[in-house]
Formats: sequence, structure tokens, C-alpha cells
Amino acid sequence: MSDSVVWGYAGAIGPSCWGGLRSEFSLCDCGKEQSPIDLAQPERLPLSPIEFDYRQVRAGVGDVIDTGTTLQLNCASGGGIRIDGIRYDLVQLHFHHGSEHLIDGRRLAMELHLVHRSKEGDICVIGVLLEEGAHNHAFDPIWRHLRKGKESDGIGVDESPATVDPASLLPVRRSTWRYRGSLTTPPCKEGVRWLVMTEPSSLSSAQIAAYGAVYPDSHRPVQPLGERILACDA
Ligand SMILES: [Zn+2]
Repeated sequence: MSDSVVWGYAGAIGPSCWGGLRSEFSLCDCGKEQSPIDLAQPERLPLSPIEFDYRQVRAGVGDVIDTGTTLQLNCASGGGIRIDGIRYDLVQLHFHHGSEHLIDGRRLAMELHLVHRSKEGDICVIGVLLEEGAHNHAFDPIWRHLRKGKESDGIGVDESPATVDPASLLPVRRSTWRYRGSLTTPPCKEGVRWLVMTEPSSLSSAQIAAYGAVYPDSHRPVQPLGERILACDA
């Protein structure tokens, strides 16, 4: 694990301590519009469509990153999405073991975050809940880059480029929960537009176990919805 990791998911650097670890992490404690949340009792509303314009990502060695808390794929050439006339470019995608968002209090096996940024610097994250089911080949090119264990110093990591189609990681049905929230990791910056797919994608128990062996329980607890509106078009 690199020295730059100053926060984690357990003990004295766990989520309940993030706000006190560094002054720039204070929103993790005092923010009023934080993520993740429990996706419960949404307002059923007609929502503007998401136009997907994803491109295949050919990620070189430096684009697949073990941050110490997640496996991240940088997606400089991955295209993007358009919503309400705003274009958001796909910047990176990464994972959490144990879903961060809950469905009516229920935690799913994992969660994928596709992080996008507009020209103005606004962040939009698409969350895809991942549940145990059939083996999902779309994730194989990413999973090949998982460390073989916690302290392997990269031994066994596949260094070949990963070709990934971001669209193939999404569920078929494109209805979403939507709300305004934050990054779910320090500095917990707010003003993030969240779109969480109502239909999960599947991963096999072996795929989930392989990820969890490296990044176990890497999820932030849910935060209060407060005055915010949770909308859904399912
Ligand atoms: Zn995330």
C-alpha cells in the first residue's frame, strides 16, 4: 500500500474519522448533502434521458491503478454522456466492495462508479449496483489487473493493456435513482450529480470474492438524505 493513503475503511482512518484526518476533509463530517444514501421511498418523476456516448477504452499499464482502496481504470478516451444538454466526459471508473448505496436498507455485493466531469468541472457519477449472479465477462479485462493478495507487491498482476467497453458494464434497463450528493471518499466534495441504475449488473461469486480479497469492505456508511429529493423514473 502506498504512503499516500491517509484514509481507509476501518479503525482510526475509517469513515467515522475522515473529517478529522485533514482540514480539507472536513465536509466528510459537516457536509449536509453527502453520499451514499439509502435509496428508499423515491419520488416517481419523469426524468430527462441520459444519452450514452461511450467509447471502448484501451487502457495502458499506467491507466489501471491500485489506489490502495480501490481498483481504478482511467478512461481518457472513453467518451461520455449527455443529460439536460450538458456533456460529461468519462474520466475514470472504480469499485466498492459491499455496495455503497442501499436499496430499502439492503446492501448488494458491490458497486461500480463511473465518474464523469463537464467542461465547467461539475461531476456526475453513474452508480451501478453489482449483485451476485452469472459470471460477467465484461469485467474480465479489469479483474485481470487485481493483485493476487494484499501484500504481493504487484506480483501476479497482469501488465498487458486492458480493453474495456464501459457500456458493457451497464445493465440493460436504463432507469435511475437521481439526487445531489458528494464524493463517497475524502474530501467528500459536494455538488455531485448522482445517477444510480435501478437494475443491478451481475458478477459471479468468484468475481466478487476475487475483488473482496484485495479491497474488502470498501464502502462508506449511508448518509442522511436531509432536505434533498430522491427521484426515480423506474
Ligand atoms: Zn466510488
